[in-house]
Amino acid sequence: ESYLAAIEAANGALNAYVAVTPDKAREMAKASDARIAKGEAGALEGIPLGIKDLFATEGVHTQAASHILDHFEPRYESTVTANLWADGAVMLGKLNMDEFAMGSSNETSYYGPVVNPWRAEGDNKALVPGGSSGGSAAAVAAWLCAGATATDTGGSIRQPAAFTATVGIKPTYGRCSRWGIVAFASSLDQAGPIARDVRDAAILLKSMASVDPRDTTSVDRPVPDYEAAVGQSVKGLKIGIPKEYRIDGMPEEIEALWRKGIEWMRDAGAEIVDISLPHTKYALPAYYIVAPAEASSNLARYDGVRYGLRVPGSDVSDMYEKTRAAGFGREVKRRVMIGTYVLSAGYYDAYYLRAQKVRTLIKRDFEEAFAAGVEAILTPATPSAAFGIAEQDMDADPVKMYLNDIFTVTVNMAGLPGIAVPAGLDGKGLPLGLQLIGRPFDEETLFRTGYVLE
Ligand code: GLN
Repeated sequence: ESYLAAIEAANGALNAYVAVTPDKAREMAKASDARIAKGEAGALEGIPLGIKDLFATEGVHTQAASHILDHFEPRYESTVTANLWADGAVMLGKLNMDEFAMGSSNETSYYGPVVNPWRAEGDNKALVPGGSSGGSAAAVAAWLCAGATATDTGGSIRQPAAFTATVGIKPTYGRCSRWGIVAFASSLDQAGPIARDVRDAAILLKSMASVDPRDTTSVDRPVPDYEAAVGQSVKGLKIGIPKEYRIDGMPEEIEALWRKGIEWMRDAGAEIVDISLPHTKYALPAYYIVAPAEASSNLARYDGVRYGLRVPGSDVSDMYEKTRAAGFGREVKRRVMIGTYVLSAGYYDAYYLRAQKVRTLIKRDFEEAFAAGVEAILTPATPSAAFGIAEQDMDADPVKMYLNDIFTVTVNMAGLPGIAVPAGLDGKGLPLGLQLIGRPFDEETLFRTGYVLE
């Protein structure tokens, strides 16, 4: 009840929830009470969570923050949310996001921008919470849920976590099932939690992760007790510092935060080593070929027939055209156009195939660092703190917005786990985050090292 009251009081200003489900929350909480009374409490019994609008929730608003999915209420539940409910968690509602998870500021949502609960000192300007999981990050930061689900294709868990002083982990590709999550770029998409702290993130991921016969890319490996890793010593652990992340024009505050993080790790007994990930600079351009290519294919299904919005036309193709013209926002259209272009005959080899090769090289860089004994890699999470709403005009300069992902996309391209942990404030009192990147399926080391930074 207190979370529902907090949402009622604050959501008008923050716009973090696109749908609140009080009846469902109360019904689930009642069932939790009954299980607790019988001594059958699950690992998340009674914990109220917000769910990113990208996750299919049975009979509940699921629109990926897009107009084209108007009134879509799936008849099925995503595997990740089903796992959470099976452990006793309670759903408060669906969280705002960038449309189809395309964006870094939560400004591409059909429902309008989410407002970051943080403000710079002495400045009341409304700031973005980051994206695409901006609703998840803002809701957790403002205590409008105890934790939230999120997804990360190029940084959408870690960047908003960094902008709101919350913890976000993108697990290894295959750790969580993608079944029932609206697809953006299938080879990059992964679900993960945004939470108040590292321990909460560990508890939530344990529940979210599972192998799933309905997602053949999910991996059949036991899910460890992540919480047990929290607080374990990092003595002797080899932490790599990649020189390529020291980008031109990086604000001194980010540099300073990174140095501080290195000191904290060293003080805790970790061994710091300089490493090189030489193909880092190609990650962002390659990502912005691979992700739109997969998106253009995944979004072909929104045709006015199967889901949501339909704008009548003179014939079927006219109906398709009118529906897609009205239903998709500008950024989504840009991605579909880029994706269609790079996949088209004549350009496929020059762009898509080339980007896939670059992707292999990026992956190999990490493999070499890990083969040399590095167990985690420490970098800044973002190149800046949260910026103002409408400050970065995506139509005037989309690449500027894309640069927000400069430190996060490599991890998706390589399929690795990455965690963003709040590590300090900038000169204006805004949160900044550090990122730790781990070996495949070694999320435990990220919880262990992340806890040292938090
Ligand atoms: N900002 C990146 C994009 O717009 C990543 C988004 C995401 O991780 N879903 O594609």
